[in-house]
Amino acid sequence: MSNTGAHILVYPFPASGHIIPLLDLTRQLLTRGLTVTVLVYPSDLPLLQPLLSCHASASIQPLVLGSLPELPSSPQTRLPAKLRATTALYDPIVQWFRSHPNPPVAIVSDFFLGWTHRLATELGVPRVAFWPSGAFCGSIYNSLWRDLPKNDDPTNENNEIFFADVPNSPKYPWWQITPYVRGPDSEFFRENMLANFKSWGTVFNSFTELERVYIDHLKKEMGHNRVWAVGPLLPPSSNDQVGLTDRGGSSAVPAHEVMTWLDGKRDDSVVYVSFGSRLGLTRRQTEVLAAALERSEVNFIWCVQGHVADDGGSIPDGFEERVGDRGFIVRGWAPQVPILSHRAVGAFVTHCGWNSVLEGVAAGVLMLTWPLGADQYIDANLLVDQLGLAVRACVGGVQNVPELGELTRLLAESVGGSRPERTRVKEMRGAARNAINKGGSSTRDLDELVEKLSELS
Ligand code: UDP
Repeated sequence: MSNTGAHILVYPFPASGHIIPLLDLTRQLLTRGLTVTVLVYPSDLPLLQPLLSCHASASIQPLVLGSLPELPSSPQTRLPAKLRATTALYDPIVQWFRSHPNPPVAIVSDFFLGWTHRLATELGVPRVAFWPSGAFCGSIYNSLWRDLPKNDDPTNENNEIFFADVPNSPKYPWWQITPYVRGPDSEFFRENMLANFKSWGTVFNSFTELERVYIDHLKKEMGHNRVWAVGPLLPPSSNDQVGLTDRGGSSAVPAHEVMTWLDGKRDDSVVYVSFGSRLGLTRRQTEVLAAALERSEVNFIWCVQGHVADDGGSIPDGFEERVGDRGFIVRGWAPQVPILSHRAVGAFVTHCGWNSVLEGVAAGVLMLTWPLGADQYIDANLLVDQLGLAVRACVGGVQNVPELGELTRLLAESVGGSRPERTRVKEMRGAARNAINKGGSSTRDLDELVEKLSELS
């Protein structure tokens, strides 16, 4: 298909959890007739391949204007360094834009790239902020970055911070508040994040049934015709195994091996364990999780990423032999969406990264929450305490370790059984499907966004 529609520049933040959903959105823009240039860093170029192979070059073009420098490995300093490094593309983008025969009419960029709001203003085009997080998180961040919270008692990390201006007045202990509100980078983060709320438009990877009160709140705060909830953004249908397994990374094991292993298991009898693309457990947490998986006697797939916490644990000696065919360990990237969608998977131990949350909901699996950082405490709070879609496995963070007996029981009960959370998540799966089907709320929002973008050309 060759598109002749409005030309949009899409700029994802260079991290899997951000690139994956924005490329899923890009596919939706392409199928609705827009022409897209996607700005990526050289190392992320392969992630564009599924889109490039399905759409004509007249419709989608990759754009590489520079690479990222060597970044610190410590999670604390890595994100601010990466974020600052992206600003080096400001001038190259301006030059590319000014010399283009048919320059973009709008920029759609990740919420970490708030500085592109100023760039878009200089170029005289609107900027749409893409939130890979949900609207509840958006509501809290709006409040958090506007009025930076302070811990009244700096000696007490459990001191609670209230967000009185957000619906349901949520509160969080200080240790769960993003560390970037303090320290040397806070002003830089603040400016960057607040720019999102000034942007021409905002797109959330969420849907009305899941986050109605927060979507409405943000519409009130930012303007009704400036906020679009278009989720859950998912890869193409499950028949397209290539699109699924190439999404966001190359699987560390051949996808068909995992699928064949799953084919041999009963419906809803497998627990999938993954902490996302970046984070890992501490040594003590890893030991307890391994022991609980062993004692609970459940079938499981455990995806262990390379990046682990500073004292990061590894799979205990002899573990794999002891669990035998009951366990499947993936060291590295796993084909997460196909795994979650398999009939044999009934539960998901998740760090509550927002993409994982939506993928869990879309698959209708019982989620056991174990947040580790970032917006994950907010997401766990939404899932467990507000929506009753999930069960808390661990309060989270590096300092908390679940009690072995309790975690063992939870795992054993998570497969089969009749927990109310399982029923509710299956209902929400239905609502998610309705939202992205013809006439659904997310489809309508997406169509409206494309219409508005098209009017710009
Ligand atoms: N993912 C995957 N395989 C992996 C790890 C992650 O496919 O082994 C995908 C997952 O399906 C999700 C994204 O990477 O789409 C991770 O995003 P999320 O928001 O869940 O967490 P983050 O990695 O950003 O903390």
